[in-house]
Amino acid sequence: MRFDVLTLFPGMLEAVLGDSIIGRARRAGIIDIHFTDIRDYTKNKHRKVDDYPYSGGGGMLMSPEPVYKAYMSIAGGLSYKPYTVYMSPQGSVFTQDTAVKLAKLDHIVILCGHYEGIDQRVLDEIVDAEISIGDFVLTGGEIPAMAVIDTVSRLIPGVLAGSGSYENESHFKGLLEHPQYTRPYEWHGKKVPDVLMSGNHALIDKWKHEQSLIATYEKRPDMLKKAWITEEDADFVKRYSEKREETRNED
Ligand code: SAM
Repeated sequence: MRFDVLTLFPGMLEAVLGDSIIGRARRAGIIDIHFTDIRDYTKNKHRKVDDYPYSGGGGMLMSPEPVYKAYMSIAGGLSYKPYTVYMSPQGSVFTQDTAVKLAKLDHIVILCGHYEGIDQRVLDEIVDAEISIGDFVLTGGEIPAMAVIDTVSRLIPGVLAGSGSYENESHFKGLLEHPQYTRPYEWHGKKVPDVLMSGNHALIDKWKHEQSLIATYEKRPDMLKKAWITEEDADFVKRYSEKREETRNED
């Protein structure tokens, strides 16, 4: 998998994506991440990339030509069009499902905007999808791009140490993950649940699944409504919620 990021701040991305799990995966050659500085494609001596918007109002807009040239420095030499994503608060909101789809691609170009955004004409010409990381506005697309690259990369085989590390995680199957415990067995008077010490894997798997249903019911009931769950699971959640209601009424 190769990512090319078009940005005004390559140092920001390198600082984060050169470290930890993603940095290690890059050094191992499992993923390839390149940063292209859009300023390198300006003609003026001040390396200016922005200009006033025709619509008036405050702020500056990134000009189309340096963005296009930076893009062509990557795509121009290829026999295919790399899937090109513009990080934008106007895009569809990034989810684990989007990450799974992106992880199947071989090459993704990510365009980061800054200031008030980017001239629409170059977006129309090069962008295949706009992706937002949430309904709020950041100063630039660099943090969103890092979030997307990190999420997608950890789905690439070999990036995480254990295979299947992500398959039981929150959002992968529409549910949140069960609570987890590590040593010591007892901490601040609280013990690890007995079932986890039982060595009975069938029982442990059942506990994990039920705890995952409970966590989703408690923290993200909206997800539970959309998740595909069996009749048995639905029954379990119903019994759990009734019991919880009874305890509440007793209090
Ligand atoms: N004027 C733009 C608008 O209202 O849609 C917002 C521009 S924002 C200040 C500057 C850049 O930050 C955008 O071009 C985009 O690349 C990035 N950005 C801001 N919020 C984002 C979000 N929620 N998701 C993804 N990218 C975002």
